[in-house]
Amino acid sequence: MSTTRPKYEAAAVETARQAAWAERDAFATPEPTPGARSIYIKPSSPFTSGKLHMGHVRDYSIGDAYARFRRARGDDVLFGFGFDAFGLPAEMAAIERKIPPADWVESCGERMLEQMRRLGFSFDYERVFYSSDEAQYRWSQWLFVTLLEAGLIYRDDTTVDWCDHCRTTLAALQVEDGRCWRCHNEVRLIRRPTWFLRITPYLEENDARLPELEPDWDEISLSTQRYILGRSDGVEVDLGGSGGTSLPAFTPHPDSAARASFVLLSPRHPEVEAWAGDPAVAAQLDELRSGGWERSARDAKSVPVVDTGASLEAPWNGAQLPLIVSPLVDARYGPTAALGIPAVDEADAAIAARVPRLDGASPEAGTAPAEAVPGGATDPDIRPTVRYRAADFSISRQRFWGTPIPVIHCQSCGPLPVPEQDLPVVLPRDIEPTGEGNPLAERAEFVDVACPRCGEPAKRETDTLDCHFDALWLWVPSAVPPEARAEEMFSHADLRRWLPSERLVAGADSGGFVFDQRVVTKALRDIGPFSFIEHGEPFSGCLFHEMVIADGRKMSKHLGNVVDPDDLVDRYGADTVRFAVLYAAGPAKTLNWNDGALRFAARFLNNVWVYSQDRFAGLDAAPEDPEAAADTEFMRERLRKWCDNGLSRITADLEELQMHKAVRNVTRLFERIQDFEKRVIQRRDAQLCRADAEAQVAALKLLARTLAPFAPHAAEALLLAAGGEDGAGLPGEWPRHLVLAAASSGAAAGS
Ligand SMILES: [Zn+2]
Ligand SMILES: [Zn+2]
Repeated sequence: MSTTRPKYEAAAVETARQAAWAERDAFATPEPTPGARSIYIKPSSPFTSGKLHMGHVRDYSIGDAYARFRRARGDDVLFGFGFDAFGLPAEMAAIERKIPPADWVESCGERMLEQMRRLGFSFDYERVFYSSDEAQYRWSQWLFVTLLEAGLIYRDDTTVDWCDHCRTTLAALQVEDGRCWRCHNEVRLIRRPTWFLRITPYLEENDARLPELEPDWDEISLSTQRYILGRSDGVEVDLGGSGGTSLPAFTPHPDSAARASFVLLSPRHPEVEAWAGDPAVAAQLDELRSGGWERSARDAKSVPVVDTGASLEAPWNGAQLPLIVSPLVDARYGPTAALGIPAVDEADAAIAARVPRLDGASPEAGTAPAEAVPGGATDPDIRPTVRYRAADFSISRQRFWGTPIPVIHCQSCGPLPVPEQDLPVVLPRDIEPTGEGNPLAERAEFVDVACPRCGEPAKRETDTLDCHFDALWLWVPSAVPPEARAEEMFSHADLRRWLPSERLVAGADSGGFVFDQRVVTKALRDIGPFSFIEHGEPFSGCLFHEMVIADGRKMSKHLGNVVDPDDLVDRYGADTVRFAVLYAAGPAKTLNWNDGALRFAARFLNNVWVYSQDRFAGLDAAPEDPEAAADTEFMRERLRKWCDNGLSRITADLEELQMHKAVRNVTRLFERIQDFEKRVIQRRDAQLCRADAEAQVAALKLLARTLAPFAPHAAEALLLAAGGEDGAGLPGEWPRHLVLAAASSGAAAGS
């Protein structure tokens, strides 16, 4: 045991293991194994940016450890993803390089897949797809038409930024200080018809099901869902308008309802036109709506307000409450009406101070004396109710690089969905957008089409779908074999095998995507294709992790603090990088990257490598010594307990995806195994006898197996060095105990 083995050569080991995995197609999605559970682990869907960043490495290292662990436990695992390939960043990158976005996306995807393979992530690469593939977006179009027919997509006006010079609408990230990103001229807001996804019918269910998602959804993922819902509990009262009309208004302050001094109405309230009939008021309202208020609607001191001049009657004392329109309501309770109660609500007080007609409504001046406060839930005029801030959102963009919206506009028939047999509406692949105008609108062969109903000349919709829309179902295709996707994307039998996904692993900023995926799954359940997902939840479990930063700041080219995974893999090897990322912080914590974790991981893996190789090689030389074996039997027993305890901790950590704890427990287990040897040598004043050496080798093999989810290359190479056979048997079943032979010289092995 005195000869020192060569150090761990990451590059050689990793290349060899990756070649072996490719050779035997190790991560292909398995056919159903009798008695096995089928689980689908869904990592985040990367944008085709061209390079993995450390956030990806974190995401996939967690998901991959979990996938490898579940495979070792005997589950059938689907571990797959697709690229979120449409969208503005890809379009802008293509404009900069003067190439078609399709080419850019393809080259980015290839580079990123290469990086993933180098990091040893065990995806089923055969199932990888791009949302910008025709075979893929054909189903985005199918989903659009399906939701449109179900009344869950509608068309309404919204405001967008417009550049007169470039003759195009601009996305928020293309407006810099009120100027166009391309030509630097000032932009202005215009109103234009836009497609919206109606999520409001599913808000209550998305809320009600949150308790069912515990504990397999971690606290961050649940809190993002609560935040997006923006639930307020309160009461609703009917206020009387002129001519017998009435308007229900909400307040989260039930005990103070009678102290209301005005009513705040959302500009998106379905009845807002009826309450703002006066032409001067209607004009103001129009101005408010086109004033870009959506971006500045948070602050009660600056949010736009329009006094309608109308008043509503309070049921408790007949007081007249002025009706004010303001998007402040949306930002707090959604598109509804709310009581303004300056006495108890600071934002209401701020509004009251800005509207001349509300002059007397200082915080002290409630309109009703305290004893007239209605009796809460027992009062027939007051009903307990809930409001949600989450609102329908626009899904169409005036951009080229996206799924064409399958709609045809006919002068006589209006907007009509493209019939299903005519899908897909194909996006021209050869266009090189310049950022000027709308390239789709300028292509006659794309735009001019016959109306599917009356046959008269009609025009295609030239807006495309925002990539957020593609993302609504980006978790589905992996569950369908690639060759069946063209025909059976939403009807293939495998959907029932894999859905809902057992676990989503994604960044903490994915809450919005996940919320909308939960909505659409419920919609598809009610429409039919997903009727087998009774609770309408796409993910049974969910782990959200925070981001990776450097020097306490977000990584950015501008700050020069970007950590490049390729550089790290070059210097340290994939296993070290993966181990370090997991070791450095728990998922709920922002990972402030530093080389300390990396150096620790490199040292640890190298120590395990050299130490284990030494002991494996020295086993045969260990002398049989029955007397010594009898004397140290209690120590082997103690080693067995240490191993079993360590193993059960690591197993529990892996079950809960607490990989930072799991890797720490792996390092502790290694310390215990070293400690065993030290104590035996101390007691015997001699090298280990055969029985002790065998016990130690068994423990080291067990250690290698527990290491396999985190450092799969090194772990498998160690198991090979310990006499394992290369092939599908590696790294082997997840161990349950350290089994030691009862006889002092029998064979010892982990089982
Ligand atoms: Zn411009
Ligand atoms: Zn027509």
